[in-house]
Amino acid sequence: MELGSIRVVATAIGVVMGLLGPGLYAYMVNRYSNAVILWRRLRLLLLYSGAGLLLLSIGVGWMDVSTLITAVAVLVAVFLLVHLVLERRSSSLVVGLGDEVVEARLLRGQGAAAFSFTGTGRIYVSEGLIYVLEPGELAAIVAHEKGHSVALRPLSPPLVNSLLALLSVAIAMGVVSLVASGSAAGIGLGLLASLGAWGLWVTYNWAWESLADIYSLVKTGAIAYTALQRITSAVPRPLSIRDAYYDFIRSMRPRRIRGGVFLVNPHPRPETRLYIMQRLLRELYQS
Ligand SMILES: [Zn+2]
Repeated sequence: MELGSIRVVATAIGVVMGLLGPGLYAYMVNRYSNAVILWRRLRLLLLYSGAGLLLLSIGVGWMDVSTLITAVAVLVAVFLLVHLVLERRSSSLVVGLGDEVVEARLLRGQGAAAFSFTGTGRIYVSEGLIYVLEPGELAAIVAHEKGHSVALRPLSPPLVNSLLALLSVAIAMGVVSLVASGSAAGIGLGLLASLGAWGLWVTYNWAWESLADIYSLVKTGAIAYTALQRITSAVPRPLSIRDAYYDFIRSMRPRRIRGGVFLVNPHPRPETRLYIMQRLLRELYQS
């Protein structure tokens, strides 16, 4: 595959954006202690990650119409299948969140888990988790899951994540054809593009996770913090730039996927999440 100069520039910018992403996240969470400001900055970081992936897909991406149709069909089929399995294994759960009511699903099983399914945006909480939580903490956890979709407004999680998945498929296919070309330049460019794409994916997920934490904190207050602290037993600690890159590199290791976890997306370390929440809480309650 030959890359024109515009595509080389798009790739270069995308790679640099991807490599800067984890550092930018660390800078933001240490810099801003106001919930409204950090919320806006992290939403910008989501946009930044999406824009970087778009540039990389313009740069190295490859997809013809039949591949696109296949990718969309596979995505819809996987979403549908997972949705049906989750629905079969769960019953309805209504959780009060301040002055509103959130519809969620109670998942059978002893394992402690809470997540929102990307394909539908539905919130699932496992029975195992409910047993170890205080009632107020359940609201905090459901608020966190709801925060994942609020953070993407005006778009919806299925739309955003499907678009990101399609961009990733295009980038991955382009990388494969670059590496398959066998030339040193092609292999180098392919590896750099993969590294950049992974940096953008990590940045997107870290920012998205922190946005969900902020939403939960604003909605439910200190209980959002204590719930996370009790579940993780972590100690709040700021995220140094070095730690951010250490976590970025560590996130590339292959991980075993346990049953019930359908999408293992990189999370910021619990110490960082608690540190952010602690700082925001101080601000919230001082004013
Ligand atoms: Zn989350």
